[in-house]
Amino acid sequence: MARRGPVARLGIMGGTFDPIHYGHLVAAEAARTEFDLEVVVFVPSGHPPHKKDSRLTPARHRYLMTVLAVATNPWFEVSRVEIEREGYSYTIDTVKAFRERYGPATELYFITGADAILEILTWHRVNELLTMCRFIAATRPGYHLDGLGQVLQKLPPEGRGRIHLLEVPALAISSTDVRERVRCGRSIKYLLPEAVEHYIYKNHLYVSDAEAEGVEEA
Ligand code: ATP
Ligand code: MG
Repeated sequence: MARRGPVARLGIMGGTFDPIHYGHLVAAEAARTEFDLEVVVFVPSGHPPHKKDSRLTPARHRYLMTVLAVATNPWFEVSRVEIEREGYSYTIDTVKAFRERYGPATELYFITGADAILEILTWHRVNELLTMCRFIAATRPGYHLDGLGQVLQKLPPEGRGRIHLLEVPALAISSTDVRERVRCGRSIKYLLPEAVEHYIYKNHLYVSDAEAEGVEEA
C-alpha cells in the first residue's frame, strides 16, 4: 500500500481472484475511469485457516496471479492486507485498514460485482460500512438486480446515495468457469491475461482436486 502523496479517490477491488480474469479487470478499469479514481487496489482474500478442505487456491498463487494481471496498468496495485491477516476478512475490516492508511480525506470506493454487493449489504454491518466508503456495483451478465433493489429500499437514503451502479461491457466470465475449463482441458485463452494463463499451467493449478496445489496449505 505504499503511495506517494495524498489520494483523493481510491478504488478497492476485493475478491478471491481464483483466478483473476478480464471480468475483474474490465470492471475495475470502468470504475477507475467513470469515477476518476487515482488508483485501484486489488485485495485478494485470505485463506480461512479453519477450512482445511477448502477448494480455495493458496493465497500466494492468487496474489501472484493478481500481480501479473495488473502489471500493465499503471493505476492498478495489489494489496496483501487480507492475505496477511489471520482468518477470514470482512469487507469492513479491509475498508478500515485503508481508511487508517490513507486518512480521512481520501474518498474510498469499494468495487464489487452486483452479486457480491448483495452479500455485503445483507450481512456485514451495512450502515457503518456505508459511512466509511462508497460502493460501485458493476452489473454483470446473468445476475439480476431485483434482489439489490430490495436491499437498497431498506437502506436509509443517505446510505443508498453512496451506492453507485456501473454498467460494464458484458463479460460473461467467471473464475468458476475458468477453473472448470482447465480441469476439462478446454482453452482459457482471451478470458484472462496471457501471463496468468501461463502461470496457471506452469503451477498445475485447477488440474484436478487431488493434484491441484490448491488443496495444500495456504
Ligand atoms: P467465482 O466464480 O469463484 O465466484 P468470480 O469470477 O465471481 O469467482 P470473485 O473473485 O469471486 O470472482 O469476484 C471478485 C469481484 O469481482 C466480485 O465483486 C465479483 O462480483 C466481481 N466480478 C467477478 N466476475 C465479474 C465479471 N465478469 N464482471 C464484473 N464483475 C465481476
Ligand atoms: Mg464470485
